[in-house]
Amino acid sequence: MGQLFMQSGRRKLKSLIGAALVLGLGYFVWDEYGGEAPGEAAAASQDIGEILNGVAEDYVKLVLAVGQHDSGYVDAYYGPAEWAAEAEAAGSERPLAELKSQAAALEARIAELDLAAAQDLVQARATFLTKQLIAVAARLAMLEGESLSFDEETAALYDAVSPGATEEALDAVLGELEALIPGQGPLAERFIAFRNQFVIPTERLDEVFQAAIAACRERTLRYLELPEGESFTTSYVTGKSWSAYNWYQGNAFSLIEVNTDLPIFIDRAVDLGCHEGYPGHHVFNALLERRFVRQLGWLEFSVYPLYSPQSLLAEGTANYGIEMAFPGVERLNFERQVLYPMAGIDPALAAELAAAQKLLRKMRYAFTEGARRYLDGQFSRQQAIEWVARYRLVSMARAEQRVRFIEQYRGYVINYTLGADLVRAYVKRHAADDAASRWAAYEVLLSTPLTASALGEVD
Ligand SMILES: [Zn+2]
Repeated sequence: MGQLFMQSGRRKLKSLIGAALVLGLGYFVWDEYGGEAPGEAAAASQDIGEILNGVAEDYVKLVLAVGQHDSGYVDAYYGPAEWAAEAEAAGSERPLAELKSQAAALEARIAELDLAAAQDLVQARATFLTKQLIAVAARLAMLEGESLSFDEETAALYDAVSPGATEEALDAVLGELEALIPGQGPLAERFIAFRNQFVIPTERLDEVFQAAIAACRERTLRYLELPEGESFTTSYVTGKSWSAYNWYQGNAFSLIEVNTDLPIFIDRAVDLGCHEGYPGHHVFNALLERRFVRQLGWLEFSVYPLYSPQSLLAEGTANYGIEMAFPGVERLNFERQVLYPMAGIDPALAAELAAAQKLLRKMRYAFTEGARRYLDGQFSRQQAIEWVARYRLVSMARAEQRVRFIEQYRGYVINYTLGADLVRAYVKRHAADDAASRWAAYEVLLSTPLTASALGEVD
């Protein structure tokens, strides 16, 4: 009986994934939400808006209920406090199967709507909610013990399937690195020795981070208008599988945590400042809150389920945000002139690191590929650690930390690399060759209900 149930559950989930893949919006012309449709159409769209508001409320409550079964699932929530209290009072007593059928029922309510005459933004909202609900159902199926392949999981949870990498292609890049990294002996050892020249001394960590975050913020503010009073605090923690985390609190406030378990390299300062702060997660959340939750009353944006399509946009814009704030050689110049002296690292080394990173970028899908092989059962844990150490050129301790990240977050890993590539391609397609129009295209992504399949292809 149990097995039969599992099989039919799996078929159901496969059809959900199919639905997710065909629902792609394609590129749609942006329609300002202020526009009014005349007469009957206006009345109909008002009804659709009300129905979607109702679905959104039930969706938020559903996500909060799933959070009672899955710690870490609710990454941020700043909607009505009584909904969180209700979910907490109910605890995990609502069975997973019941939650799963609620997700399907909400999805059906959206599918019944006639959206043909609705504004683009309303259609995007309906598609976004549908895909978020598909992800809720998939996560619930996983919590029930259903096993999905890596690609099935990412299609259902993040609306995307990532490219991989072959040993041949990766080994070819290692060959190029061989010639670049000085010293004798195995490349891995030489690279780690080379990398160790770039560690920020612990006592200077905060000063360097604050300087990097301030520069990321200043560069973002040149192009984006942020909510008044937006702010963040930084704290340093240990014992985590991630290297940094933004815990968005609502009211344009973030708590940014930095993990100091392992030495932190100088280039992480700009990475983290942009990724966690400006124009990354902090700005992403603050703009979603302002536009959708405060201005439009779309409460689905007051909750952020971690294992959902929203995460690909979040990580993709956060990672690509580094290039937005520091295009071309600007990053290298800033690091060399400001951060290296502050950290007491020789600025003459910066160009060498930049050259090595250019090669490492060619191997950027290695981590996703390692995760896919490990989670699909082709690699043992040890093989996964060795793969990450070999192709990300990190110490075994760091590779082990990264494998713990894979174990905890699974297919989530695609959101960083594929997400950034999708965002980069989107911005390139929709912007002219000047900073203002690149930022305008980027801002659309920071304040739009989009999921991966609507972004288009990677170039
Ligand atoms: Zn992130």
